[in-house]
Amino acid sequence: MNLHEYQGKSILKSFGVAIQEGRVVDKVEDAQAAAKELSAETGTEWYVVKAQIHAGGRGKGTVEETGSHGVVLAKGIDKVDDTVKGILGGHLTTAQTNGVGKLVNKVLIAEDVYYPGASEPSEFYMSVLLDRGAGRNIIMYSTEGGMDIETVAEETPHLIFKEEIDPRVGLQGFQTRKIAFNLGLSGQAMKQMTKFVSALYAAYEGCDAAMFEINPVLKTSDDKIIAVDAKVTLDGSGLFRHAEYAAMRDKTEEDATEVEADEAGLNFVKLDGNVGCMVNGAGLAMATMDIIKLSGGNPANFLDVGGTADAERVEKAFNIILKDENVKAILINIFGGIVRCDRVAQGVVDAYKNFGSFPVPLIVRLQGTNAEEAKQLIDDSGLDVISVVQLQDAADKVKEVLA
Ligand code: GDP
Ligand code: MN
Repeated sequence: MNLHEYQGKSILKSFGVAIQEGRVVDKVEDAQAAAKELSAETGTEWYVVKAQIHAGGRGKGTVEETGSHGVVLAKGIDKVDDTVKGILGGHLTTAQTNGVGKLVNKVLIAEDVYYPGASEPSEFYMSVLLDRGAGRNIIMYSTEGGMDIETVAEETPHLIFKEEIDPRVGLQGFQTRKIAFNLGLSGQAMKQMTKFVSALYAAYEGCDAAMFEINPVLKTSDDKIIAVDAKVTLDGSGLFRHAEYAAMRDKTEEDATEVEADEAGLNFVKLDGNVGCMVNGAGLAMATMDIIKLSGGNPANFLDVGGTADAERVEKAFNIILKDENVKAILINIFGGIVRCDRVAQGVVDAYKNFGSFPVPLIVRLQGTNAEEAKQLIDDSGLDVISVVQLQDAADKVKEVLA
């Protein structure tokens, strides 16, 4: 589950990670009070107003309606309202929003932490994630923070460091010092960085995170180390242990169809292709997507209907798949193990009938217990459904209807 920056920062703070402080508002009228409160707490006179959307690249992004960027400095309390107006309620397009502007429902009014001083502030990159190859959590970090890390990885990969954490002993002191050293820090800044990294890793483990990406981690001109940005992804499977984090879910940021599928208990992920698929079991769903690719199509979704593919669930799944206008055909691929194929077939027939006119060709492949009876049932139904038993035949039929 992805979180907004302000939510991620609140979790980090609760684990003792130093952050750029801020107040979140969803109305312009609340901006002045929020800014004043923030100044009372931090002493700041300048503010940075930050759009809260589930996408990065906000600083360089543009609000369609106003032309404002998604992260804007307000040099004084008298500039706050206008700055907020430029962002709040607008649609922000960034390099990560796939060409569509995202509605900004909230903005974070944060303290300006790039204040001038003896030396310039430095921006670092830091993330914590599971390295599946190594089977361990790693801390990935770089001196090249603040910018697009993918570009750094491509052009100057030697500037990205990785530190593996042994789960038996956890993050060790020598590792936090090594990280600070590799970032070119010494003295007070080095000490602050080791504290920062320890707290960050404790937060990662403590909140059951799937990923942290802090870009930039800032060294202020007076040698504080703080998280200026926070991209926090929590492990959905761990949320049952954290009711307070589960409540942070913002469904307006998620694909509407995916939310609907989730509420119906269907495991659904929308994709960009033209062949909808309905499958029982995640492994078979993956294999089905491969088959669709091999037959020249592209899967429009991943959909695992689970063990009980009855008429109601099949109909719900049809509804969800057919919301996507790109869908030119649907392939149902069910393996009847515990659930008998003829029962699934009956479900498909009933759901199809309930639909009245079915807008795209439907190919059904049922295999396993009572597969032959199931095929018979579909063939006898008189409906315009193509039924097959072999996977290869299913692939061939997909190719045929797309041609
Ligand atoms: P992103 O663009 O979505 O990654 O949002 P960030 O939170 O990383 O902010 C983007 C950029 O805004 C940062 O890289 C900074 O350069 C700038 N920025 C963030 N906070 C401040 C601040 O307090 N003062 C100033 N002057 N700039 C800031
Ligand atoms: Mn950032």
